[in-house]
Amino acid sequence: MRVLAAAAASLGLLAGSAAAQAPPLRPDQVQFRAVYKELVETNTTLSAGSCTEAAQKMGARLAQAGFAASDLTYFADPAHPKDGGLVAVLKGSDPKAGAILLLGHIDVVEARREDWTRDPFVLVEENGHFFGRGTADMKGLDAIWVDSLIRLKQAPRPPRRTLKMALTCGEETDGAFNGARWLATQRPDLVAADFGLNEGGGGRLDEQGRREMLTVQVGQKAYQDYRLTVTNPGGHSSRPRPDNAIYQLADALEKVRPYVFPVKLTETTRASLAPRAARGDAVGQALSRLFADPADAEAARVAMTDADVNAILHTNCVATQLAAGHAPNALPQRATANINCRIFPGETVEETRQTLVRLVADPGVKVEATDPDKPLAAVTALDPKVIGPMRTLAAKHFPGVPLVPSISAGATDAVYLGPAKVPIYGVPGVFRDADGGGVHGLNERMQVRALYEGRDYLFELLKVYVGG
Ligand SMILES: [Zn+2]
Repeated sequence: MRVLAAAAASLGLLAGSAAAQAPPLRPDQVQFRAVYKELVETNTTLSAGSCTEAAQKMGARLAQAGFAASDLTYFADPAHPKDGGLVAVLKGSDPKAGAILLLGHIDVVEARREDWTRDPFVLVEENGHFFGRGTADMKGLDAIWVDSLIRLKQAPRPPRRTLKMALTCGEETDGAFNGARWLATQRPDLVAADFGLNEGGGGRLDEQGRREMLTVQVGQKAYQDYRLTVTNPGGHSSRPRPDNAIYQLADALEKVRPYVFPVKLTETTRASLAPRAARGDAVGQALSRLFADPADAEAARVAMTDADVNAILHTNCVATQLAAGHAPNALPQRATANINCRIFPGETVEETRQTLVRLVADPGVKVEATDPDKPLAAVTALDPKVIGPMRTLAAKHFPGVPLVPSISAGATDAVYLGPAKVPIYGVPGVFRDADGGGVHGLNERMQVRALYEGRDYLFELLKVYVGG
């Protein structure tokens, strides 16, 4: 047995020391863990799962905790009966105080059992980590929202401000029924709020599992594709003509290629780039010069050599797809290219298209914005009423760990709340492994301690926000 145990330990099969020394769970943590487990073990992939079922399970827990049926709104699209969601409202005592929205997508990326080490739809706790699809993206935060609502409902006094929670589907899949979009356009009353909290922030652990930094996501760039099209009468390739759709398109792309969109520095991007500038290397020094003069083209050129920095300095457009010609022995009748742009908050789809038209400078090249998949994100401010408590409580729960605002070059469901005028913040508090924790990939995981500690931080943060 001892030999076996030693062998097992050396293979990492026994619980790690962190897990072995972990104190027993408090009763409130046991309750929370049950919510988390139920969410992770309810398959909510587009192919085989049901967000509707997960929403109903969470609704049942809220009802059991005392929520009236009238405070729980289930919604679904008749054409997508499994992509439903839930809005729960915890009414505040002060009718004049604005509401706060908790947003969470409950759908997950596909996961195939045969590719995973463990069953992706069973919550496995092993070596200080929870394993399972959605453990990190984002059923941990969903469970924290549900659990917080239950605890606040059972508190002796109601909160001063109203708290709304929207659990929605369709975030991970284009073309699915997106609950956040539906709510913002069809039932804006259900999500109307002074501000909202969502995924997108968090914290980063280093390779050794130590806390490196906390992040709060403040604003996102918009995703937009543009199609460049050249058409031509074509003909037999044995008799070339002076004009050619492929060459004409290639010339257009060559004109777009070197263009650098103007550097935009907002309060948020300055704050998010400050730690990078402080490193003091060539990119860091260039950033410091840019802070002083955003028009410094040479500083911009150096700063842009860091892809992470480049992604948030300005709008970026890059060629991503090409298609042309219909036969090897024919002159091309059509050539198209896709240019993918990530538009800086505050700039528009049409402004960016006009820039591309101006760069291409060829009326024979049609430049069209493809159907926008997502609306433009609202410009989110570094509102001290929101950020202040995050910072104060971070100093208490995670002393010495810096809290850094970030702007996302991608997009979460937060963009859908832009037209509803609800600024959304990606909350700090739940730290993720240095390698990203297998999000969207294999063997997704969440550090157990990080989840419980993040929950404690976020619950206290919510109590400060709602008051009462
Ligand atoms: Zn997510």
